[in-house]
Amino acid sequence: MRIAETVTFGAGRLQRAAHLRAEPPVEDALVLPLWRGKPLLSEEGISWLDGAIVPVEGPEVFLGVEDGRPLYARDVSGWEPDDVPDSVGAFLDPSEQVHPGLPGAFAELRARMTRLTPRDAEMAATAKALLGWHATHRFCARCGERTDMAEAGWQRRCPACGARHFPRTDPVVIMLITQDNSVLVGRSPGWPDGIYSLLAGFVEPGETLEAAVRREVLEEAGVSVGEVTYLASQPWPFPSSLMIGCRGEARGREITLDPVELDDARWLSREETADVFAGTHPDVLPARPGAIARFLLHAWLADRLD
Ligand SMILES: [Zn+2]
Repeated sequence: MRIAETVTFGAGRLQRAAHLRAEPPVEDALVLPLWRGKPLLSEEGISWLDGAIVPVEGPEVFLGVEDGRPLYARDVSGWEPDDVPDSVGAFLDPSEQVHPGLPGAFAELRARMTRLTPRDAEMAATAKALLGWHATHRFCARCGERTDMAEAGWQRRCPACGARHFPRTDPVVIMLITQDNSVLVGRSPGWPDGIYSLLAGFVEPGETLEAAVRREVLEEAGVSVGEVTYLASQPWPFPSSLMIGCRGEARGREITLDPVELDDARWLSREETADVFAGTHPDVLPARPGAIARFLLHAWLADRLD
């Protein structure tokens, strides 16, 4: 798919400079602070700070190098604002936190991702995913001992048993299932009223992407799928997924719902899908901007899957 890398978080331009991770450069470093998973953003995008002046301490990870300057992300979650609303940590957190010594505000990436440049979106996603992994994987999965950050944040090592642990990425298939002029969409329990999206699910151990697509669609909607092809992927740091967009050809149209997984599933014609995007469909709302589901549906409608 030629436009694959135009998806949100899909830029792929960050020079990660993995060969420098054993001893990353610190001179002229730029630092992106994140507070409880929320990057420091201004109206223009990421608020990069001179590494020497960030007034809050915290663990740092080396993101890469740009224009000769090393880039780091620092977890400043230890900062305690006067007021922390209940929305912090929730699925959608509209609140922003302003630190008196820092420019900009800590803002939820999900709310701001479509307003960032591809470069900033990629860096913020990388920083959020990596720092989130450290925050939730502090102990050795083999022996239970507390582990230490290594390789400038790209590993954790266990001082007791010597195990090395690597940042986790969970593959998720998300599929554009079509038949003739229609596409299969569904909605999960608990979603806001009217929102429909493409079906998706985690890839299981021992499974190919193709098999995962066929299994998920059969399990959730009772629809049998034939040929499956890859379209595009999207890093999705909520907290650590890689969305793998695939296309599958349905062998039939009859839907049998798994009520645990889905509230509803239905076929939408091209004409109906156009109405959904135009906001004129009577009872279907589109997937959220920035999500690969919306990107793939839009590309299908525009005949841009090539
Ligand atoms: Zn261990």
